[in-house]
Amino acid sequence: MNLDPRPHPVRKTKIVATIGPASAGEEVLAGLLAAGLDVARLNYSHGDHASHRAIVERLRALAGSQGRQIAILQDLAGPKIRLGTLPQPRLLAAGQEVALAPGSQAPGQALPVDYPYLLEDVKAGQAILLADGLVELEVLAVAHGQVRCRVKVGGQVSSRKGVNLPASHLRVGSFTPKDQEDLEAGLAAGVDLVALSFVRHERDLEPVRERLNHADNPPLLVAKIEKPQAVERLPQLLAAVDGVMVARGDLGVEMPLEQVPLIQKRIIAEARRAGKVVVTATQMLRSMLDNPRPTRAEAADVANAVLDGTDAVMLSDETAVGRYPVESVAMMDRLCRASEGQVNSEALLKQDLSPLLPAVAAALSRAAGWLAKDLRPAAIVASTTSGSTARLVARFRLDTPVVGLTPDASTCRQLAISWGVEPALVAPFGDIEEMAQRARQWVLARGLAKAGEHIILTGGVPVGTPGTTNLLKVLEL
Ligand code: PGA
Ligand code: MN
Repeated sequence: MNLDPRPHPVRKTKIVATIGPASAGEEVLAGLLAAGLDVARLNYSHGDHASHRAIVERLRALAGSQGRQIAILQDLAGPKIRLGTLPQPRLLAAGQEVALAPGSQAPGQALPVDYPYLLEDVKAGQAILLADGLVELEVLAVAHGQVRCRVKVGGQVSSRKGVNLPASHLRVGSFTPKDQEDLEAGLAAGVDLVALSFVRHERDLEPVRERLNHADNPPLLVAKIEKPQAVERLPQLLAAVDGVMVARGDLGVEMPLEQVPLIQKRIIAEARRAGKVVVTATQMLRSMLDNPRPTRAEAADVANAVLDGTDAVMLSDETAVGRYPVESVAMMDRLCRASEGQVNSEALLKQDLSPLLPAVAAALSRAAGWLAKDLRPAAIVASTTSGSTARLVARFRLDTPVVGLTPDASTCRQLAISWGVEPALVAPFGDIEEMAQRARQWVLARGLAKAGEHIILTGGVPVGTPGTTNLLKVLEL
């Protein structure tokens, strides 16, 4: 047995970066790709369809010219409640009273809240949070078309700032009419993943899944976990999606902040075990909005998400509106590389198989993982139509590189978000012999392996039928 640790020329933890005014231009986009962006997130809470479309086209052209496989993630806003239009910012002082009223513009001194059922859905004693939880109100009474509140934690609020009603069961669906229009635009632009915000129940995902099933190249479906109801229904949600996002921004407002770190660990562990993609998001390098270097605490946060076993780490404002977008991606790259070798893949291999996985595929991918531990092959090549075989192997966070071998361009891009997977787009193949030939050619051309070394080949036959992982072979090059 060869126990020499292999060098890690390729970063395994993937980087998601949000594109915004600070990064939408050609030059910065090219810089983000060169610094290591794997997934570009387009936030449909902002911007119009034409500008998103232009960014998609720019990204595709740049990825082509840099020879990179990158994925584009469309983030749908969901039923985010916001303040309406305020004539000017308002400073709310602790102890003072303030009134809220439903609508986009409110009469008199009341703050307008863009949620038609405000008066019905809040009750005396509940908390209302404004501006990402910066300002905290307590409801005193609902009367005369207004919600009277006492300011508990003061601060400044302005137009369109977020409003969270953690205790209320909102009566609007997660997939709003605006999301529906945005999704059509995203599908037309050719996005690779679609994330839905403020999911509370697996039912919320059904209309999106239904629409994706009828798309030409169905994007992966990601549920953003940012409501207490979603945390409670994590197993059911995992069964309904391809991935989840630990959306710590809203989660930290909707739930006691001190619970978020452990919830993050639980979401990552359960998603990974079920072979689902998991992204850890929000404020990871927040101080880099204004500074070229992060705080020590932020460096530790990224490292901890990597050690928790996240597939990907995400940058939001850092790359969308910050002063140092390219530096933020470069810093993520360094932080991930430094910690990712410490994930204990042996412990992950020993875990019970998730009941959410098809038994044969789950067992076979685990066998591939053990085989890699014993043989130390140059690579595991996972031949995949839908991407699922590669994601199943990836879930063990192995030292061995995993090559996601596919003739499907859209599947190939989707693999860009999976931990340790190198997306490999190859010419179509019809049988095991051709599959093995493509695998050999790709790892040799890529310099992943040399003649005489072993690779492990896994996949499904007949070729081209998704969900048929049933093949495991050791090849000598
Ligand atoms: P957002 O989602 O940035 O769209 O709010 C992520 C989060 O809430 O953390
Ligand atoms: Mn959010």
